[in-house]
Amino acid sequence: MMKIAIFGGTFNPVHIGHIALADDVCRTLGYDKVLFVPTFIPPHKKMLHVESAENRVAMLKNTFKSDSRFVAETCEVDRGGVSYTIDTVHTLIEKYKGELDGKFGLIMGQENAFEFNKWKGASELAEITDIIIAQRQKAVSVDTDGFENENTGEYTGGFNSNEYLKIFSQFPFNYIPLKNLILPVSSTEIRARIAKGAGWRYLVPQAVYDYIIENKLYGYNG
Ligand code: ATP
Repeated sequence: MMKIAIFGGTFNPVHIGHIALADDVCRTLGYDKVLFVPTFIPPHKKMLHVESAENRVAMLKNTFKSDSRFVAETCEVDRGGVSYTIDTVHTLIEKYKGELDGKFGLIMGQENAFEFNKWKGASELAEITDIIIAQRQKAVSVDTDGFENENTGEYTGGFNSNEYLKIFSQFPFNYIPLKNLILPVSSTEIRARIAKGAGWRYLVPQAVYDYIIENKLYGYNG
């Protein structure tokens, strides 16, 4: 039996912020595995400049060749259409029957938690998973294209910020706050850096760096 956490995202591309967070979830909370679930079509984001599911999955798989705790779980991509986490959790409960110890953990960064009660089946999700909320601070130099979040409000992030405390005092579900290391990295920032020729090499795992260059993703042109 294993303690397993689900970590959904666009992973466009996966970066050190995601992986360091998954590592913290394992080390701090005792999880054995983290299932990275790339969305096919995310419900709450606009799809601009998103790489194909095939490329996003390949970058995850290449990265996890060197760490068997992490898995690229492709059920949302295989299902197609808009990806709802509640459907994914039901699928994975079935798939991991007999292997899962307790409930699945459900990892999200704090900016996703701000929006969580708008998610399809939010209260059921909160019942059938253990929600893990990571602290996050976003780089603010996001001025290029890529995904545009519907909620464009800037925040400074971190568990001690006033904004965090204000919103989480109203979070209506149980959750586990994770005091993860704050790495202010985002996929949007990385895509912007690739396109404008700024430094990005060490913000992603080596396997992702190699893949982006080989396939000239995100406007990479040397
Ligand atoms: P984008 O910039 O394209 O919106 P992103 O970097 O936020 O992408 P996603 O794939 O959308 O990455 O994120 C998946 C999950 O990982 C979300 O719950 C998000 O909050 C969390 N996350 C992403 N980056 C970090 C980070 N640096 N620290 C903590 N959590 C993060």
